[in-house]
Amino acid sequence: MDPEPVHPETLAAQALGWIDEHTRAITPPIHVSSTYLRDPDNRYRSGRIYARADNPAFDQAEAVLCALEGGAQALLFASGMAAATAVFQALAPGDHVLAPKVMYWSLRNWLTSFAVRWGLQVELIDMHDPAVVQAAVRPGQTALVWIETPANPLWTVTDIAATAQVAHAAGALLAVDSTVATPVLTRPLALGADIVMHAATKYLNGHSDLIAGALVVRQDGEVWQRVRKVRAQVGGTLGSFESWLLLRGMRTLHLRVRAACASAQRIAEHFAQHPHVAEVLYPGLPGFPGHDIAKAQMQGGCGGMLSIRVAAGRHGGEAAAIATAAHVALWKRATSLGGTESLVEHRASVEGPGTPAPPDLLRLSVGIEHVDDLIDDLEHALRQAHG
Ligand SMILES: *Cc1c(COP(=O)(O)O)cnc(C)c1O
Repeated sequence: MDPEPVHPETLAAQALGWIDEHTRAITPPIHVSSTYLRDPDNRYRSGRIYARADNPAFDQAEAVLCALEGGAQALLFASGMAAATAVFQALAPGDHVLAPKVMYWSLRNWLTSFAVRWGLQVELIDMHDPAVVQAAVRPGQTALVWIETPANPLWTVTDIAATAQVAHAAGALLAVDSTVATPVLTRPLALGADIVMHAATKYLNGHSDLIAGALVVRQDGEVWQRVRKVRAQVGGTLGSFESWLLLRGMRTLHLRVRAACASAQRIAEHFAQHPHVAEVLYPGLPGFPGHDIAKAQMQGGCGGMLSIRVAAGRHGGEAAAIATAAHVALWKRATSLGGTESLVEHRASVEGPGTPAPPDLLRLSVGIEHVDDLIDDLEHALRQAHG
């Protein structure tokens, strides 16, 4: 009889139980070679030729992520953007793609500029409404539906299973930017998605010390083979040291994500009825649009990301939000998310004209500090800003 399959926490903590065959080391070495020896008979029996296409430094991190997402294959990339854009570059000019109006800002910018010039028919829609998706898909023409859930910076929730059905009925693939949910909370492939994308820069690595991206596919196929080729040819290849750090980061993924979720929930509840806060945007709050879907497709928490809309002070909401960010001491004023340290960001300043982020919005990435310290610091900053 086979032993019971172990839990994802165990797989991650042990990096799938990897042991070096030659040295018995329990952590992998860092492979730095850019090139591989050709055999005298002119063949490449190792299967490796040149590290732009493939590198043993990727193997273990890709295998761990693949196991956590329940996929067939995974690929690491030099950034989340390199991973995401590889999916779109695997399509053909003329293909129709649907993406959300509210989504990670840099990818939205790339889609509406580069991808459009390159010939993709990009349509941005209210992705969280299945009726809108149903009306927008063009059977036979739509090649890809791209979703992000919960989505930056309003934490809009999209029903993965329902969207997968609509996409598949139209002959399109469904790709999910699952950076914020992580495989700890959501497994999009099991819900019907075809490709999962991660900015591994964020929770997967979790220590704000590298830039990386990843894709995981449910089933190998033509599009995935083109994605692989895009990485090898365009060269959005991750470095060896970054791959090694990412593997190390993923060993503690579950602990970090659970801690961040628990604290984010407490912070959201604390500030939901606060005189200096107009609104808290967090999928874990009852009454938040999409709360029920988030509860159903996110297990064990609703993520470590939330936003607060700061109540207008004497000089309005935007000034009060910027003043609040100016007065924090523990929270760090910085972009990015998913690290051990908590970050606060006035999102509209970063995104610029056309942003869906209201001017009074502060985006919070909750880290793993003591939650009372985070609440006290934010309380103090809000009081100072409204003083
Ligand atoms: C950061 C981020 C990206 C882009 O990842 P990079 O590693 O910065 O290129 C994409 N999607 C989401 C949701 C992100 O937070």
